[in-house]
Amino acid sequence: MADTVLNITHLSKSFGDLEVLKDINVVIHKGEVISIIGPSGSGKSTFLRCINLLERPNHGVIVYNGDIVTDEGYDVRQLHKEIGMVFQRFNLFPHKTVLENIMLAPVKLKMGNKAEIEEEAMALLRKVGLESKKNEMPRNLSGGQQQRVAIARALAMNPKVLLFDEPTSALDPELVGEVLQVMQTLASEGMTMVVVTHEMGFAREVSDHLIFMEEGFIVEEGNPKEIFAHPKQERTRQFLSSVL
Ligand code: ADP
Ligand code: MG
Repeated sequence: MADTVLNITHLSKSFGDLEVLKDINVVIHKGEVISIIGPSGSGKSTFLRCINLLERPNHGVIVYNGDIVTDEGYDVRQLHKEIGMVFQRFNLFPHKTVLENIMLAPVKLKMGNKAEIEEEAMALLRKVGLESKKNEMPRNLSGGQQQRVAIARALAMNPKVLLFDEPTSALDPELVGEVLQVMQTLASEGMTMVVVTHEMGFAREVSDHLIFMEEGFIVEEGNPKEIFAHPKQERTRQFLSSVL
């Protein structure tokens, strides 16, 4: 398919004797939003970390825009520029202001002159609704605001794909919505996204494709609305009834 962004085949990953991912095959198309759900310990985070090679898979091949990125000799820095990641715990730089957090990597990578980078950073802060917080330190922001800054920071690299690892799981319930709202906007603008989430509303309504993982396997995947309405696998049905 012409618009395949990532083609992941026969991916496996072990930590010592523990097999965490077992023959994972996933194709991600441009503009697609994929949600990954499943119980704790099923390998969801490890899978995300393998996608951008924060973790080296033991077996399998990942092709990103035609490049075999799992080949020895591929420069993973290129991949890290193009595939951004948003973490559960925000991971903002605590001693930098909001604006500095967003500008840091683009300045380091000389993605423009300082004025251009600042202008772009301010546009991103506007996009996530936090223009007025540009000079604040992260600790003075709510969790929801910090996560929106983290998303703006990821966007500042102009990524082609964004990975989210439970982006709302560390938030108080009343702050979840503002982060999901930003993610929904990104999705509607055509960002390619892979989202590990416990937010079943987001998985069902916003994503194009749903993956249910358990014990390192993809148990079931497909159209989210169909899976929520009629899970084919008994394990999927059990999991959904435990979280819905
Ligand atoms: P999930 O995100 O679905 O909760 P993870 O991918 O974090 O699952 O973890 C899957 C399994 O791999 C768990 O048993 C976890 O303890 C183990 N694991 C994850 N990272 C490491 C690591 N760096 N070293 C050893 N074991 C790990
Ligand atoms: Mg996890």
